[in-house]
Formats: sequence, structure tokens, C-alpha cells
Amino acid sequence: MSLESKWDRREILKAGAALGAAVPLAMSSLAAEAAQGPGGAALVLSVEIVSLPIVGSTQRFPVRRVYCVGRNYLEHIRELNNDEREPPFFFAKHRDMVVQNGSNVSYPTLTKDYQHEIELVVAMKSGGQNIPRERALEHVYGYGVGLDMTRRDLQTASRQKEQPWEIGKSFEQSAPCSAITPVERSGHLTAGKIQLVVNGKMRQDGDLGQMIWDVPEIIMHLSKQVGLAAGDLIYTGTPAGVGAVVAGDKLVGNIAGLGELSIGIVAA
Ligand code: MN
Repeated sequence: MSLESKWDRREILKAGAALGAAVPLAMSSLAAEAAQGPGGAALVLSVEIVSLPIVGSTQRFPVRRVYCVGRNYLEHIRELNNDEREPPFFFAKHRDMVVQNGSNVSYPTLTKDYQHEIELVVAMKSGGQNIPRERALEHVYGYGVGLDMTRRDLQTASRQKEQPWEIGKSFEQSAPCSAITPVERSGHLTAGKIQLVVNGKMRQDGDLGQMIWDVPEIIMHLSKQVGLAAGDLIYTGTPAGVGAVVAGDKLVGNIAGLGELSIGIVAA
């Protein structure tokens, strides 16, 4: 890369700051290598590349899309008074909403009820459409520990108005995720503790075996709806015990065999 193109990208970043990009980026845009479009054409500006560390490797897992399962643990469905018989459904977050392990997250705008949902995250190494249940695990690269951070008051309001969940689910820094543990290390996870501790107190204490739809079923259902591909993350739903957090709180998530996800909440 020439000095000139480096300078151009700094100018672009400065311009972005001037436009009011006050939210800290998950990764430095300067770290992203210059890319080319079709035919080798230079791109007019560089876009942030989001990736996650890989346990036991110096390589990183690049993130393409981020999907989440709506409801997947019976006790959590009951605590929010939702219909237990509904089939799984999905929503999405943008990849630049992914937050690295060990980071601080700013209390988000618009909400007075900012809640944690600890979740098993599936990281895909390949994909396709209409993936059969029995082939689904062949597409899994590994697993992570994630938080589906939620503006519950906005989610509830949009549900009551029969509007999309976007405002409650898809916002800055709403998708913290740990390093990805490759399947070769963790095996495929069907049972084991999934827990979240806030300020030293257990808030969520579930087991992956309580999931209504297991990982192969989630991949099967989601791949009917959209094409899955390498780099996709799927947050698989949360056990009971969701609750609010405030600035100053320290969240530590744990899934047996996957290690920890540690996030701090700071004032905006
Ligand atoms: Mn969730």
C-alpha cells in the first residue's frame, strides 16, 4: 500500500468523525487492508473488516452476517409471556455491531431497559440454502460465547405495535462475542452449562440441552429463509434470567468448553 492511499484513508476517517461518528469502532478501519472491486478496480473508500480471534490460532475468523434466533429456551419464553408453540424465527444484526471480548460497551441511546441475553454462537465455515438437518454440522467452523444485547423497552413497544424488532435488537455494540473455538477443539455442543454473571452474581444459569431447537435444526430452518455462507454467526437464543444492566456493570459469560466472554458497561 502506498503512503498516499494510507493518507487518503486517514482523511476518510477524519471525515467520518466530522459527520458525527461518535461511536467507537469495533476494530480500527486503518487495520483493514485496501481492497479491490471486480476487474481490479480500486474502491473509492475502505470499509471496516470485522473479525474475531480463534482459540489456539494466530488467524482470525472474518464475520459476514449476524443472525439471532428469537426464542429458543422454554423458561425464557415463559418469563416474557410468549407463545411456547411458535416455530423458530430469526432477526439480524449488522456485523459492525460485533464487540470484541474484553471491551467496554457504551450504554445505548433511546432505552431505559438495556438487557443481557447470554447465547451460544455458531460460526459457519460454509453454507448454502435448504441445508438438510443431517448435513448442517458439516458447515460449522466453531462456537463462541455471545451476548444478544437488547433494548427491551423498545423491543416490547415494537412488538405491541406489530412493528419489526430492529430498534430493540440491532444497534451499536449490540453483539459482543468471544473468540471462536474450532470444532476440532470443542466438538459439537449439545449440552453443558451456559451462564452469565453480572457484578459477581449469577443472573442466567442454563444448559445448552434446554434449547428447543438444536444447532442442526436452527441451521436447517434459517437456511430455508436465507443463504448461509462462510463467516456467518448465528446467536442461538438465551436461557431464562435476562435482566437489565447499567453503566459500571461487569458481565462475564461462560459456556462449558468455550471459555469466557467479559464485557463492561460504561456511560454513553
Ligand atoms: Mn436473544
